[in-house]
Amino acid sequence: MTFELADRVQTVPPSGIRRFFEIAEERDDVISLGVGEPDFATPWAARDAAIASLEQGKTSYTANRGKRELREAIADYVADRFDLGYGPDEEIIVTAGASEAVDLAFRAFVDPGDTVAIAQPSYISYEPGVIFAGGEVLSVPTKQEDDFRLTVEALEDAGADEADMLVLCYPNNPTGAIMTEADLEPIADFARQHDLMVLSDEIYAELTYDGNEHVSIASLEGMRERTIVFNGFSKAHAMTGLRLGYALGPAEAIGAMNKIHQYTMLSAPTTAQHAALEALESCDNDVREMVNQYDRRRQFVLSRFREIGMDVFEAKGAFYCFPEVPEGFTAEEFAEGVLREEGVAVVPGDVFGEGGEGHLRISYATGLDDLRQALARIEAFVDEHA
Ligand code: PMP
Repeated sequence: MTFELADRVQTVPPSGIRRFFEIAEERDDVISLGVGEPDFATPWAARDAAIASLEQGKTSYTANRGKRELREAIADYVADRFDLGYGPDEEIIVTAGASEAVDLAFRAFVDPGDTVAIAQPSYISYEPGVIFAGGEVLSVPTKQEDDFRLTVEALEDAGADEADMLVLCYPNNPTGAIMTEADLEPIADFARQHDLMVLSDEIYAELTYDGNEHVSIASLEGMRERTIVFNGFSKAHAMTGLRLGYALGPAEAIGAMNKIHQYTMLSAPTTAQHAALEALESCDNDVREMVNQYDRRRQFVLSRFREIGMDVFEAKGAFYCFPEVPEGFTAEEFAEGVLREEGVAVVPGDVFGEGGEGHLRISYATGLDDLRQALARIEAFVDEHA
């Protein structure tokens, strides 16, 4: 028999990044600046807590919304770090990665035909998530001249006043852009004025540089009641494989997300919840050390691209920078060329949506030695062709 795929599944194209991994697999000397995950291992204290929980046989489901102790620790952490007040009982849900939380939100709040505005370039999962939920995507491109920050002008130009929901991701994947409080205020005004719900993916909140502290849009006046915040342990705590994240929001909204979660997931991975609790309790120094290392790499990569003569804006968050490809290339041509000829894998900016054209996403979640070599190879490629 042939499987009759649902229309919404057929509509979504395969991930644009995959083709590059296929080329990369053809040779064994490739340095990858293409991945979006920390090269560090999970801090030992968190690993030990996971191991201990297994030794003690703590392998059952937890409460649907996650272990209460963990929700309490998350409530304390977000209050302390980001000035966010969420109660552990009804306003926090622990999920299988921030990915599950994002998906739950689309399924809980998007009706067929609803329009979801997405500030782009942005993480590749939002658009399919909206489509799987039956919604329509409205791209809101941001620009390098604005340091890839979202502006009211960009929202107006895209017609986002007509949308039902707005998705933000700052610090941003793939650009490394951040939004200060002053940048967020007019966006919050716009959301209130046009009655938009806001989904704010803050998974890179710990990774900010040059003295910048992450500001959550939910901490601005009148925003808590219309915002869902996503965060998790994959990035700051180097726990991607443990699959643990969470969402914060008003009780009614988190309750709706939990309704789907309790049928589809039951509870987030128990072992990972034990690791996460320890990560919040005792791993601040590990996080700080990783952030310091990312910052050193960030500065190195930015200065090398400038030496090479590629225009790159000063990324201030996450672990990406987003240089412009030299004239005469599309991003895809440059990425394919530098991979085939020099064995460096980078991701063309187009795959992250509108505004990403002509740029490359460079991940510096890679050791300095590899970064040095990769940048030398990119320089050789540019010298040869540009
Ligand atoms: N949001 C963003 C912006 C990301 O970059 C990623 C991972 N690449 C995720 C969410 C997914 O995180 P998790 O591992 O918690 O599902």
